[in-house]
Amino acid sequence: MSDLFSVADVSAARGPLRKMDIAPGDAQTPAQYTLRAGEQRIGLNAHLGASLRLVHTGAIHCVHCGRATRKSFAQGYCYPCFKSLAQCDTCIVKPETCHYHAGTCREPTWGEQHCFQPHVVYLANSSGLKVGITRKTQLPTRWLDQGAIQALPILEVDNRLQSGLVETLFKQVVGDRTNWRTMLKGDVAPLDLPAERDRLLAALDQELAALKRRIGEQAIGTLAATPVDLHYPVLEFPVKVVSHNFDKSPEVSGRLMGLKGQYLIFDTGVINLRKFGGYEVEVAIE
Ligand SMILES: [Zn+2]
Repeated sequence: MSDLFSVADVSAARGPLRKMDIAPGDAQTPAQYTLRAGEQRIGLNAHLGASLRLVHTGAIHCVHCGRATRKSFAQGYCYPCFKSLAQCDTCIVKPETCHYHAGTCREPTWGEQHCFQPHVVYLANSSGLKVGITRKTQLPTRWLDQGAIQALPILEVDNRLQSGLVETLFKQVVGDRTNWRTMLKGDVAPLDLPAERDRLLAALDQELAALKRRIGEQAIGTLAATPVDLHYPVLEFPVKVVSHNFDKSPEVSGRLMGLKGQYLIFDTGVINLRKFGGYEVEVAIE
């Protein structure tokens, strides 16, 4: 072992899981995945095809404050954090319900830093066409986390509330969910996203004009972006998608067949690591 501190050389780790870091690749190189367990990191692309074992020790540590918790809320928070952090409030999932203006934001400073920032409304192809919103700085991470194979930013707005208002219009004509089983089977057909954008913008022309009259003519900007293709390191997609769950069985192991979204794809089943944020695991690669 030449360098204990190099990410690629580490093959064992122990600590609470964080969502994986995913760096975008390009047409020749798939996205680069880094598993995070506490302060430890393991580059996973180099271990495709190897045996990987994750054993949940039984401990769960809040991803925000680190305190031990018997149960995880909202993918990794302790109950006090879940009830008090702005990032755990329902308005994060439903941005159109932002209540900052009512003076009831759980953490106004956090809101100003995260919600009162430019947001993008995008189309993505994860298990088919979907609409989504995210902070501009979260791209392309958001798409990689969802396992999208294509994405196209279409509109830009000044804040999260406005992005929610726009997304609500789009949800009348297009879905906003990913069917994770379909996404993991890997046979998602490519789409002509610019054509879908033009079709949807035309269909929502009246509604978008009315929204602009309400929130300001300059509030919604049309983006002239080109579609992004996203590639994932997968040796073989599962034919039948079976999911592992640390709450039911603490050991998850098998041959690592691929990485897509926040999922590890084993020859024995798949696991969504995002769902188990804060779960302390022992990781070993053979
Ligand atoms: Zn906490």
